Amino acid sequence: MPIYEYRCTKCRRRFSQQQEIAEHGRRRPACPKCKSRAVEQVYSAFFAKTVRKS
Ligand SMILES: [Zn+2]
Repeated sequence: MPIYEYRCTKCRRRFSQQQEIAEHGRRRPACPKCKSRAVEQVYSAFFAKTVRKS
């Protein structure tokens, strides 16, 4: 089962969620901190490329 990374747009908390691919397409998880579903997916590969700022 793949792990998806999300970021809450309300409290800006980042969290990862393990989901079935089919389930991932159907619904988004709720933020573990504020329970909001206003979350957006974070693409790990994208983050790996942009993390270097030194
Ligand atoms: Zn939140």
